[in-house]
Order: sequence, then C-alpha cells, then structure tokens
Amino acid sequence: MRLVLLGPPGSGKGTQATRLKVELGVPHISTGDMLRAAVAAGTPTGLKAKAVMDAGQLVSDDILLAMLEERLSQDDVKGGFILDGYPRNLAQADALDHLLAKIGQPLDAVVKLDVPNEAIIARCEIRFAAEHRKDDDPAVVRDRLKVYAEQTAPVAEFFARRGKLQVVDGVGELNEVTARIKRALSAESAAANG
Ligand code: AMP
Repeated sequence: MRLVLLGPPGSGKGTQATRLKVELGVPHISTGDMLRAAVAAGTPTGLKAKAVMDAGQLVSDDILLAMLEERLSQDDVKGGFILDGYPRNLAQADALDHLLAKIGQPLDAVVKLDVPNEAIIARCEIRFAAEHRKDDDPAVVRDRLKVYAEQTAPVAEFFARRGKLQVVDGVGELNEVTARIKRALSAESAAANG
C-alpha cells in the first residue's frame, strides 16, 4: 500500500500513520520528523531548515525532494509506505508524481483528514504544552494554517481531480478515526480492483 496522508497541521496525520503502519506493515515516512531529526543532528539540511520550521513556513522544495528521493530509494519502502507531510504544495505534488513514476511505484490512495481550525488550534495548544515545539506556539499555528490553506489545500484538489482523494472526518476518538481511514482504504481498493 502506497498511501499519502493529507491534512492540516495537528489533524492527527502522524498519530494515525503510527497506527496504520503496524496494520499495513509499511514504513511511516514523515518529512517533518526527518527534518526535526536533521535539526537535532545539526546536519547542513537541519541548519538551513530550523528557522523556517520555527516560523511555520515551508522548507525549500529542493531540500525536501532530495530528502524524499533518498528515503524512497531504501529497501524497506519496496512494499509500500505511508507518506505524511509531503506533498505540501503543487510543485511537490508534481515532483512526487515524477519520482514515483520513475521508481515504478504509483500511489494507491490519498486520504485527507478533515479537522476544523478551532479543533486544530486547541490540539496544537495541548501539544505545545507537552512537547514545546516552537511551531505549535498559537501565533505560529495561525501562520501554519494560512500556509496550509494557501499552498497545501490545492494539493487535495490536485488528487481529487484524479479521483484519488478520500476525505475522512478526523474528529473523534483515535480508534474511530483509524477505523474510518481503513474503511476509506478498503473502498478505494475495491474500486481499483473493479
Ligand atoms: P510537520 O511535522 O509535518 O507539521 O512538519 C513540521 C515543519 O517541517 C513544517 O511546518 C515545515 O516547516 C517543515 N516541513 C515538513 N514537511 C515539509 C514539506 N513537505 N515541505 C516543506 N516543509 C516541510
């Protein structure tokens, strides 16, 4: 299963991907986690990315594509993957398309978690208190939501136009949201298999 999880910051993509990877037996690739690891390790990529991430803006497409290309060339993704946090704009959606075509691994499904902004703001406040991520500061969350609306929402449209997008209600108990995603994936694979 090659799956992209879309949704605004704090919509639960990471949490759901962590659960789904066990059920689907494929790795969870989070570009946010990869970037945070690069920042923590003080790599050249991390040094370039840190200020941009702290401000809630998007790190450059070139950096992301190089990181993703390297990750998707590893052996553990041969059986599929769950991509979380990429693509975040139309240029990245296009780059992903080309990259997956090149390695002969087209996407099976794209699921968008739908969560209203008020719920996002409340969730990020809780995460800010627990994890102290600078980009969960309420002022930065507002900027991240703006970036999402302006740059990432069109990505959902991009997949919807291809009939690939499944929208799932991301509000509710964790198990219930996981079950909704699994139902959407079964519907997708039933449709794909005719
Ligand atoms: P996330 O954990 O997915 O919310 O990502 C945290 C931060 O990492 C984002 O606010 C961006 O600054 C950066 N980031 C993660 N993925 C991408 C991406 N695909 N393109 C650009 N920046 C990204």
